[in-house]
Amino acid sequence: MHNAARAGGIPSAMLVLFDIDGTLYHGDGTGRAAFVDAGRELFGDRFLDHRFDLSGRLDPWIFSRFMELSGLELTPEIDTAFRDACHRHLRRRIESGQHDVRSLPGTIELVERLSRAPDVTIGLLTGNWEPNGRLKVQSVGFDPQQFRICAWGNDGPTRNDLPPVARQRYFDTFSRTIEFERVVIVGDTIHDVACAAAHNCRCLAVCTGGCTEAQLREAGATTIMSDLSDCDAVLDWLLDSRQAVPS
Ligand SMILES: [Mg+2]
Repeated sequence: MHNAARAGGIPSAMLVLFDIDGTLYHGDGTGRAAFVDAGRELFGDRFLDHRFDLSGRLDPWIFSRFMELSGLELTPEIDTAFRDACHRHLRRRIESGQHDVRSLPGTIELVERLSRAPDVTIGLLTGNWEPNGRLKVQSVGFDPQQFRICAWGNDGPTRNDLPPVARQRYFDTFSRTIEFERVVIVGDTIHDVACAAAHNCRCLAVCTGGCTEAQLREAGATTIMSDLSDCDAVLDWLLDSRQAVPS
């Protein structure tokens, strides 16, 4: 298959996994605010609004960090209640119209055009709990059905554990294997870059979220774009890259 692809004959399958926050979606602080809203609903002032950096982190890690810093015990019952409250507050804030919640430049067109490319599957690889992730993409105009393969924040202990989850779901969905070299991770933080590198996935880093170009480059990103607004350039990179599979 790879030899055929290199010869310019049969295009190989490709899986493009988008991060959500800072990559497809600008939440204007609603995500953090929903965490604090939910914590205050459950614990009052005992839930402290610590200002640690959430970007690129998994929701379960963020919640446990808030709890730890607040000196509160996390039980399975509290976890369930918190997720429910967090989702409710996130929806309320997004729908309030008081925040600048929007898709990031070019992303709606990019996903739409990619979804029509032959043998390309689009998915999500994100730190969000699934209900929050689906709410975010839907709220800014994406059709959640376009994202066929998803790995969510509660699918593994760290972000680096998520690409194998996506790869397994690809197999479960299509009854065929996809090599990590055929997987592209599009993300805005050093954690996206690291999780791609951990599995030899391709990585497209964008500067629309949590990290600067210098930070992304220092983390090992080799392809960095200021944003995804130049759809032709992004598609050229993606579709050219599938003709150049590393041996
Ligand atoms: Mg992100």
